[in-house]
Amino acid sequence: ATPTSIMVGTGKAAESGILFKGGEHLEKTHQLDAIIFDKTGTLTKGKPEVTDFSGDEDTLQLLASAEKGSEHPLAEAIVTYAEEKQLQLDKVEAFEAIPGHGIIVKVNGKILIVGNRKLLQDNGIATSEKEELLNSYEQQGKTAMLIAVDGKLNGVIAVADTIKPSATEAVQQLKAQGLEVIMLTGDNQTTAQAIANQVGIDQVFAEVLPEQKAEKVKEVQLQGKTVAMVGDGINDAPALAISDIGIAIGTGTEVAIEAADVTILGGELLLIPKAIKLSHATIRNIR
Ligand code: ADP
Ligand code: MG
Repeated sequence: ATPTSIMVGTGKAAESGILFKGGEHLEKTHQLDAIIFDKTGTLTKGKPEVTDFSGDEDTLQLLASAEKGSEHPLAEAIVTYAEEKQLQLDKVEAFEAIPGHGIIVKVNGKILIVGNRKLLQDNGIATSEKEELLNSYEQQGKTAMLIAVDGKLNGVIAVADTIKPSATEAVQQLKAQGLEVIMLTGDNQTTAQAIANQVGIDQVFAEVLPEQKAEKVKEVQLQGKTVAMVGDGINDAPALAISDIGIAIGTGTEVAIEAADVTILGGELLLIPKAIKLSHATIRNIR
């Protein structure tokens, strides 16, 4: 490989908004077999909004008060929704986040448990009466959360995020380039599958806890594949670091950008097939 042609390649890439940290990553990009996408903030815009709420106003007021203590994008969506309804939020008395599952909070003297089925079931609350409702939201690609107040199931709230306009086209181009395309998310299987269907991804790893994301990348590598990981969040950083090519979303967190080998400006997903095309062109020039 001549250093000059690599430099020309990374220079061209940079002009398009593809920032390689070094020429070796451009060379490696040429060898990719598989690419794994985080869902929220990577394939989607990462600005979820509440679409449905089933429950009474008191429950919504308690729920939003509880979520005020969380920095999760889902929490922000719920707080915004309640504030738009002019609800006054109470101060949280105790707060615990259970990563990948939800929150347990004391507010106004009541204990709220908000999150997925597993969190409620682990706390002895049966979820079957809401199963049909949950499932209908999830089949639409929405993230549904259950709300229990003092041990009683009181409501369901659903949140949806917008898929990036170019996500489908980017996935199609990557497949045409011969890559295996995979989605990786902490969200539940049904929601993840619905989003995957919309963007044309056939392989989904769902309900993956933040600390397990890197292990999933490793699993694909152990199949003998050279793997790229695309992500935006703090919880994607270990997966970005362990992958052969870590691709950070430019609009994502600083931690993700630092852990990655490449950053795509503005989070424009079409820059990924473009980077692969550039790496092929560069390697051809070298040979
Ligand atoms: P993602 O990978 O999509 O960001 P997480 O791993 O952070 O998802 O969370 C997985 C699931 O845990 C969410 O889909 C939701 O059901 C639940 N959850 C996480 N944080 C919260 C929260 N603050 N309030 C309610 N539910 C939550
Ligand atoms: Mg994300």
